[in-house]
Amino acid sequence: MIKIFILLLLTTALFASKVETYRWSSGDSYLSFLQKNKLPLKSLYYDLDKDEQELTEEILYGVRYQILKTDSGEITQLLIPINDELQVHIYKLKGEFLFEIIPIISETKTESLLLKIKNSPYLDIIKETGYANLAHIFIASFKKSLDFKKDSRENDTLVMLYEQKYRLGKPFSMPLLKSAMIEMKGKKHYMYLSDNGKYYNELGAELEEFLLAKPIGNARVSSLFTLRRFHPILKKYRAHLGVDYGAPIGTPILASGNGRVIYAGFTRGYGNVTRIQHDNNYQTLYAHQSSFKKGITKGKSVKKGEVIGFVGNTGLSTGPHLHFGLYRSAQAINPLSVIQLVVKKLSNKERNEFLKLKSTNDKAIAQILKNNKKFPRISNFDSVCYFFNEKCEASPIQNQ
Ligand SMILES: [Zn+2]
Repeated sequence: MIKIFILLLLTTALFASKVETYRWSSGDSYLSFLQKNKLPLKSLYYDLDKDEQELTEEILYGVRYQILKTDSGEITQLLIPINDELQVHIYKLKGEFLFEIIPIISETKTESLLLKIKNSPYLDIIKETGYANLAHIFIASFKKSLDFKKDSRENDTLVMLYEQKYRLGKPFSMPLLKSAMIEMKGKKHYMYLSDNGKYYNELGAELEEFLLAKPIGNARVSSLFTLRRFHPILKKYRAHLGVDYGAPIGTPILASGNGRVIYAGFTRGYGNVTRIQHDNNYQTLYAHQSSFKKGITKGKSVKKGEVIGFVGNTGLSTGPHLHFGLYRSAQAINPLSVIQLVVKKLSNKERNEFLKLKSTNDKAIAQILKNNKKFPRISNFDSVCYFFNEKCEASPIQNQ
């Protein structure tokens, strides 16, 4: 693995140290990572509470992490991102290694894309930005209303506004598409991201209709999704990257959408766990199962509502429940935001907020078109294959 050395002061207390950046490799579990680096399993894993142990399962393949070493090569600190918000911080104090979860300091910048279609909107967006998720979201959002194959022409104009996070001066995580416009056959079509996480067109109609079925019949939610919260008593940062449903052992678990099984196996934190890949870069996760339904193995196609396994108490679980996770472009999002029975129309208040959002974005897009210039992009990308892309391993971090 290629190492890069970046000039950075992680702490003022240390001197003659250097920071090395690596990518989390696909075969690594947090435990095997500790073993490989000869770090103490007891204080850095077995002594942690259940929530912390569960979070270490969320470290994503391909994510970049930092190791601070002394001149003699001894590890003194580690920073490993769990998601956009939180990271594992391992540090040495008085000869002992300690573990904590701390917020990620990142800076968000709005960037833009302006292009004339050459091949197709999908390919051109990826080629220009290096991010497949921007292309996926754009195409998925317009899937119902526009026919790119039929109506898209060379030289059609496409504009996108998106937010990019930077951590330690480098692009970090997936960009978030805020707004886009494509002009086809002389007509402009818009999409806007609302605060509720959904995309709307210029008329305020919801675009993307990715809806999941509840993954379990009659069950109550016993723990909600939180991306990041500070526990006031424990004085610790926490996250719960899924929804827990309490249910008796053996209760059937249902695939919440059509898809393909990409993992069905055992991990220490999540026990028997199944991951299903859905269209448009969505993934779902079903943890702590007592057993898998026969035939539910990697590569198997499943239908929405099909039984895939049974509720259990395996892995780090304090009682029978289903931990249900949802990921969009490898980012954990709140499953309850897409489990819906009815599509609701915008209320008056939401409608006014939408009009404000539309006007701000329209102005920015009009400005880009007028100046024929996109916002400057800050730095070199290396996140093309950020997560879950088989090509990722073959593309090492470039020396800077
Ligand atoms: Zn859970």
